[in-house]
Amino acid sequence: MKNPKTLNNEKHALIVCDMLNDFVLKGAPLEVARAQAIIGNIKREIIKSRKKHIPIIYCCDGHRPADPEFSLWPRHAVKGTVGAQVIDELKPHKGDYLITKPSYSCFYKTALDKLLKQLGITHVILTGVATNICILYTVAEASMRGYKVIVPENCVAALSQGDHRFALQQMKRVFQVEIV
Ligand code: ZN
Repeated sequence: MKNPKTLNNEKHALIVCDMLNDFVLKGAPLEVARAQAIIGNIKREIIKSRKKHIPIIYCCDGHRPADPEFSLWPRHAVKGTVGAQVIDELKPHKGDYLITKPSYSCFYKTALDKLLKQLGITHVILTGVATNICILYTVAEASMRGYKVIVPENCVAALSQGDHRFALQQMKRVFQVEIV
């Protein structure tokens, strides 16, 4: 049985990663086809988190117009464009946190770790796209920093189902992520 004191010290945060127009809208430059199917599930997680006063942190790609990433991927989420904005269905509320990231991981060159520490977060719930890219590398960095990670399977999506399944397996095997 868990020590109740340990339980009391657990504090969760919900991360919504890259649910941006350029990844989610039909015909978007980096459309993740299955992203449409997870919008409702993420919305439910957000509502649940608000009720429990769990902080909600939006981590969003924000690229320079000539970002080196565009040699690998189509141009997407350029800072200041509509494509870089969170989709209408999941718009942040007042009091939510918004972090712009220059690469895959939500931790790389961002203030996320500092914010999580300030908020006393021990457990991170990760949602968004893409399962095998930004989600996987954020899982890796969160785990290595000592956070417990929870990934609701129906709140993440990848460009292909094979990538999605592989990434979930890696999270479970390599980082002991709780897939729920
Ligand atoms: Zn990007």
